[in-house]
Amino acid sequence: MKIEDVMTLVRPCIAQMEPYSTARDEYKGSLGILMDANENPFPHEGMNRYPSTAQRQQLLRAIAKLKGVGEEQVFLGNGSDEAIDLCFRVFCVPGKDNVVSIAPTYGMYSVCAAMNDVEYRPVQLNADYTLPVDLLLAAADDNTKLLFVCSPNNPTSNAFPRQDIAGLAERFRGIVVVDEAYIDFADTPSMKTEIERLPNVVVLQTLSKAYGMAGLRVGIAIAAKPIVDIYNKVRYPYNIGTDTLALALKMLSETKEPEQKGMILAERRRLGEALKSIPEVEKVYPSDANFLLVKVRHAQELYDYLIGRGVIVRNRNNVQGCEGCLRITIGMPVENFHVLEEIKKFSAGE
Ligand SMILES: *Cc1c(COP(=O)(O)O)cnc(C)c1O
Repeated sequence: MKIEDVMTLVRPCIAQMEPYSTARDEYKGSLGILMDANENPFPHEGMNRYPSTAQRQQLLRAIAKLKGVGEEQVFLGNGSDEAIDLCFRVFCVPGKDNVVSIAPTYGMYSVCAAMNDVEYRPVQLNADYTLPVDLLLAAADDNTKLLFVCSPNNPTSNAFPRQDIAGLAERFRGIVVVDEAYIDFADTPSMKTEIERLPNVVVLQTLSKAYGMAGLRVGIAIAAKPIVDIYNKVRYPYNIGTDTLALALKMLSETKEPEQKGMILAERRRLGEALKSIPEVEKVYPSDANFLLVKVRHAQELYDYLIGRGVIVRNRNNVQGCEGCLRITIGMPVENFHVLEEIKKFSAGE
């Protein structure tokens, strides 16, 4: 699709609306005595003022540089969950439009669909967790605005080949949302380099996983400039707080590569191999993320046993396509050792 055609997908009310104009948007000169935004003038830990546009711009610049994309191609959200919600609010007319998604996958897509009164059409991955490209396209109709592909996928832990995702974007006449929350742990390259050729692709990334800032709430959308502009028009004016902006900027300036990525990848390999030798474990799926999807013989019982031992994993036993599976996040070496020992004990019937 051409970007002009992509922009015709925007809901008419969103395309036409005037964005909220903040006090700081209207006055752009040098800062003097601030009496324009009804703030409390007393310092309050430096938090009495609304977040500054300049500081937001600074973080935007740092993230654009880090990702090797243009500043105008980056949107910053309150976690990528905000960016997911914005995809719905920007492109989907409630009660009329629908979205297609892979299944099983991240739960927020269906939650946001329900919240926005948009029909959600899940399409099961193939049994080997590969992408059912033709089935996904067949599930779409004239009112399908979004197609969600989480890659690497949560909870199946695999990344999809770039050519599969690109093939979807070439054939689908809507927005392909590629959620790359775990891309830093994968060998597969990001789709961010394709957005000029395929402007109907919106790539979602986050500082929550590899960059270790889940508590800060900074999510990233990388997309063509007109899409980024629309997302900025629709987001809440101050969606990222002053303390978050400052801390994210500071932490990013201290590291270029996600700091513990090497250790997490080494632990992923080590834990995966060790799990495979336990009789209780049927299968450890190959992972491109910072977690392992592990198929076991007694998923519910093992899950309860681990809880009893103070180890909390994610039970995916009741998720269609993940029957018998637990999802285990890679922890610190001592924690991985511990979960392994507990699973061994369970397996040995202790
Ligand atoms: C964890 C996760 C996110 C996280 O989003 P944030 O709101 O940025 O913390 C997004 N997508 C997927 C698939 C995830 O697993």
